Amino acid sequence: MTDAVFRNFIDGRFDEPFATFDSVDPSTGAAWARMPAASEADVDRAIEAAHRALRSGPWRTMTATARGKLLVKLGDLVAANAGRLAELETRDTGKIIRETRAQIAYVGDYYRYYAGLADKHEGAHVPVDKSDLDVTIRREPIGVVAAVVPWNSQLFLSAVKLGPALAAGCTIVLKASEDGPAPLLAFAELVQEAGFPPGVVNILTGFGHDCGRRLTSHPLVSRVAFTGGPSTARDIVRNTAENLAYTTLELGGKSPVVVFADADLDSAANAVVAGIFAATGQSCVAGSRLLVERSVKDEFLARLKRKAEAIRIGDPQDPTTEMGPLATLRQRDWIEKVVAESLASDGTLITGGTRPAGSGFYYAPTIIDAGGSDLPCVREELFGPVLSVLAFDTEAQALALANDTPFGLASGVFTSNLGKAHRMARDIHAGVVWVNTYRAVSPLVPFGGYGQSGLGREGGLEAIRDYTRSKSVWINT
Ligand code: NAD
Repeated sequence: MTDAVFRNFIDGRFDEPFATFDSVDPSTGAAWARMPAASEADVDRAIEAAHRALRSGPWRTMTATARGKLLVKLGDLVAANAGRLAELETRDTGKIIRETRAQIAYVGDYYRYYAGLADKHEGAHVPVDKSDLDVTIRREPIGVVAAVVPWNSQLFLSAVKLGPALAAGCTIVLKASEDGPAPLLAFAELVQEAGFPPGVVNILTGFGHDCGRRLTSHPLVSRVAFTGGPSTARDIVRNTAENLAYTTLELGGKSPVVVFADADLDSAANAVVAGIFAATGQSCVAGSRLLVERSVKDEFLARLKRKAEAIRIGDPQDPTTEMGPLATLRQRDWIEKVVAESLASDGTLITGGTRPAGSGFYYAPTIIDAGGSDLPCVREELFGPVLSVLAFDTEAQALALANDTPFGLASGVFTSNLGKAHRMARDIHAGVVWVNTYRAVSPLVPFGGYGQSGLGREGGLEAIRDYTRSKSVWINT
């Protein structure tokens, strides 16, 4: 059934969609809702509305404290509507309800954190060596923000952009992914209810090649905040040559998890399994490369195999389900291709590598022993439930393998040796190192990648500064 019709939110109103496309429930493969396909003209209207709201109207003169109060209200509304938002995200992306509920539970915290910072990012007075001149540095909102997010964790990935952008006084046009936009379009109703002036927050969805490109290259946009894949990021960087917008990029990963023989192997095994199989592996921080010390490799793999095979795969809306489908058929086709290539080369299948019976885009939790080889499953970001295993003998080898990737988003180290933990944390090329834990996040802590994993940071105090620019004011006294 495709009775549900979602709408774009532009200039404080929900538009009746002119063009629509079907959204598919990944657990059945059937269309369940129609989504608005924003045209370039819709994007232009949204950006013009955001530009008007920035230049005139109540937002321009609203105090930082008042902006913070609106953000608190938005955070509270997300918390109050968490159940409905979680159900929609699960329906539209296939991410299990247990995970969407858990993630949305802390999305509100991100809004509240940036709400608190709204009136705390201060300018400065500079004591220049000229007695007749008084110099102050004002921190002003950078301008209209174009934000683009992928389909996984859209409410969370939007909060880390909307929170600091609005706290800084910017206005924003946010593009939901064409795959699974329902939760963000529903979230737009909460933006309206919170009482943001028209044009301050605009939320739409459509396709990357027209809507996304127009949004990120528009001449009135001064800031682009992107989360998605590296090839899209390159296209965006080429397009921002048009507007010279300040751009941050949160991209993919091939994150290593290093397990030393002296680690608590049971808790390491739980973390490795959750690190790769949560969200069906469709997470930028998925711990997709296991580097395990050779002396414990067989024992550790046996534990992983047992745990992977015990994962309950099924209906994502069922709270007892532990792993759902992939979000798109395209994604499953890609994973099957890379797994087949890896097994045809030197890879040894430990478990999985199959589609469970039935409809929907399901794929079994898969572990491949890569031997010593540079297999496609070791190199490529699969964005699926596939763990590649490599063995090491020394700490130096573990470090070299961990850094043997063009990516550098997240990493994990499991050891009971404090010195080893510190050395690995210092020397791993990644924006996040988790030691004896995996996947912990907080609004207080910056997040972002090294190398091909991105540019800039989201979260924490730093992020709000990236939505401001300084103005130096010289006054002849
Ligand atoms: P994608 O790059 O295909 O799409 C992301 C968004 O970009 C979508 O909204 C899409 O419509 C838009 N887009 C596509 N082409 C565009 C263009 N030319 N100009 C402007 N916008 C365009 O990514 P995806 O497949 O939806 O998501 C998976 C990727 O996202 C993975 O690589 C994953 O690691 C990454 N990701 C990174 C983080 C992070 O925080 N680092 C978080 C989640 C996902």
